[in-house]
Amino acid sequence: MLILCRQDLTDHEREEILAAARNAGFEPFFAHSGRIILHGPGDAAPLSDLPGILSIEPLPDRPVLAKEPGNAVVRVNDVEIGGGAFTVVAGPCAVEEKARLIDLAHAAKSAGCDLLRGGAYKPRTSPYSFRGLRAVGLEYLRAASDATGLPVVTEILDAQDVELFTDTADMIQIGTRNMMNYELLVAVGRAGKPVLLKRGMGSTIDELVHAAEYLLLEGAPGVVLCERGIRTHEPSTRNTLDLAAIPVLKGVASLPVIVDPSHATGRRDLVAAMGRAAAGAGADGVMLEIHDDPDCALCDGPQAIHPENLSALVDNMRKISALAAEAEDLL
Ligand code: PEP
Ligand code: MN
Repeated sequence: MLILCRQDLTDHEREEILAAARNAGFEPFFAHSGRIILHGPGDAAPLSDLPGILSIEPLPDRPVLAKEPGNAVVRVNDVEIGGGAFTVVAGPCAVEEKARLIDLAHAAKSAGCDLLRGGAYKPRTSPYSFRGLRAVGLEYLRAASDATGLPVVTEILDAQDVELFTDTADMIQIGTRNMMNYELLVAVGRAGKPVLLKRGMGSTIDELVHAAEYLLLEGAPGVVLCERGIRTHEPSTRNTLDLAAIPVLKGVASLPVIVDPSHATGRRDLVAAMGRAAAGAGADGVMLEIHDDPDCALCDGPQAIHPENLSALVDNMRKISALAAEAEDLL
């Protein structure tokens, strides 16, 4: 059964409900959106009169919060994702030198981008690869955000770092490798920050939406889904961009959907084409990796586009996105 509690439930009321649920033969789990999940053979009827309880219903068999129309627009400071505008997130793969990051942030801002990205904690295949500046990188991101006004999104790897990220990031990213790290999803969901959730490289659309449901159930104030390519047998690109995932996700969830053509292709020469395709397929935005000297980038140089090419691409994608919105009803 699923108990929906009042938003302003007191600690005392919560403990009373949990104790009564255990007495009634259930194993209860309190989720931070104010829902209590009951498993076990008990009878929930005696709980219904307890203070703080709004309703008791059977457990849903599919994601429901991810489908709520109220979750269709995600706010990151002053930026709205999913409200009809085409949002562009841009920045380097990894945070490197502070001055370079600030220059890239200014370039992103003047090209019309809305958010700054940059990895301070990098999940790398090889332990010998650059794994990020870590806490110092978060500081640099904050400085770049303060210099430009662009909100910052950055990837978390470990639930122990949630507080650090809550203090420095405007939006927390869960990367492809951690989409199914359910304890991390719970911890990040409780952080009170909007989340950018990237699709696991081997995950289905249904698994992605369920992962979003974890975050929302723990009270995340917004989740944006990101299609970033999946593993297939095709070796010409780093991953295979699943463009159909955009309209499929729009059907099964209400959440904004953005596309990452950089990681999807791994190739700078394909990023613009796939960014335009994403705009045409109805995405709410894109996330792009940029670097002023890609050959020397510490991570993912081959897929980084030069900032001087950004402005034209951003304008182009926004035009295509507007055209696609006009044609939304065509079959
Ligand atoms: C990233 O966006 O920095 C990243 C590591 O992407 P992904 O998790 O999609 O590989
Ligand atoms: Mn990268």
